[in-house]
Amino acid sequence: MSIKKSILKPKEMAALFKLKLGGKKIVGQHKNDNLKNNESLIFCYDTLDKVSRSFAAVIRQLPEEISDVVCIFYLILRGLDSVEDDMDLSNEAKILLLREFYAKNFEEGWSLTNVGDKQEYRDLLANYDKVIDAFLVLDEKYQKIITEICKKMGDGMADFVESKITSIEDYNLYCHYVAGLVGIGLSELFAASEIESRELKTKEVLANSMGLFLQKTNIVRDYKEDLDENRIFWPEEVWTLYGPTFESFSLNHEKPESLSCLNHMVNDALSHATDCLDYLKLLRNERAFRFCAIPQVMAIATLAEVYNNKKVFTENVKIRKGLTAKLILNSGSIEEVVKIYKKMAASIEGKIPDGLLNSPRTREIVENINNYCDLALSESYKPHEIA
Ligand code: MG
Repeated sequence: MSIKKSILKPKEMAALFKLKLGGKKIVGQHKNDNLKNNESLIFCYDTLDKVSRSFAAVIRQLPEEISDVVCIFYLILRGLDSVEDDMDLSNEAKILLLREFYAKNFEEGWSLTNVGDKQEYRDLLANYDKVIDAFLVLDEKYQKIITEICKKMGDGMADFVESKITSIEDYNLYCHYVAGLVGIGLSELFAASEIESRELKTKEVLANSMGLFLQKTNIVRDYKEDLDENRIFWPEEVWTLYGPTFESFSLNHEKPESLSCLNHMVNDALSHATDCLDYLKLLRNERAFRFCAIPQVMAIATLAEVYNNKKVFTENVKIRKGLTAKLILNSGSIEEVVKIYKKMAASIEGKIPDGLLNSPRTREIVENINNYCDLALSESYKPHEIA
């Protein structure tokens, strides 16, 4: 199976993040006085800017101790994902690399040439020795968490190299490997750094849902792009209910069956929404909160845009830049985020078509989100700590 999608590659946001989160961190200010280590860290932040400007902004605004850790965690997973996405590698070589990748983080001087489907990913892997240097000076507690997540993700990706996403169970499992594990790893890193409570690392189901919500939103939105590149992430068990081939939805985008299929997929993604709010409620640090909340509000706004929208089958549907800016500026507290969820649920409710197959289920889900939000808004929360 050809695999490219990743929550590590968001398409929106980019420059807008700087608007709010700008404060550029100068790596030299770190307490690290070892020149080689400093150079490695500078390479890591430079590469982070190149491979994802939007994540670079949210990562840089994290409290200092954890921002370096998350930057390196991000680059390691990005490296792993670049191996997964390279379609020129043989399956055999890819599977081996994916399974062993976690161990490479301990091999000083290791790098990989000519792997990666874009220049910036090839550059990351060709200079991977610098990521390793930066990783090896991290506190051991962080190294352990990153290694464990990297191993699980590599094994999971390897399992899917030669198999496709058939059942809903496969879909949830694949999304767990490539996205849920990111959420779980971040929770563990936040807990280990003590910027968040120790309890956070026990909330694996909620952390997994955070990743699944983002990953599934991308998978639904990118129908057309993935079709054009011969990739199918929608589970066969779902789309075969509505059409003979995956392409048939694009050819018959006006047909109710196509919209029913799309709405089925949106319903599935939306079923994670309240878990995400449950998770966000647990966060106490304002910077960690923004880091987690911004991608989540972008996801629910994207689902509101793609729901029952036949354009998904023929073009790349995006949320408006102005809305993106507004969402970023209004994601600083749980109350604000809950209000955005409530608004997006109402927007979806207003688009529910009469008489379509999955409309009753959508109605049920948005009512559930709405009730959750009303209850959440009646509770009171402690203000965030500013790190
Ligand atoms: Mg991938």
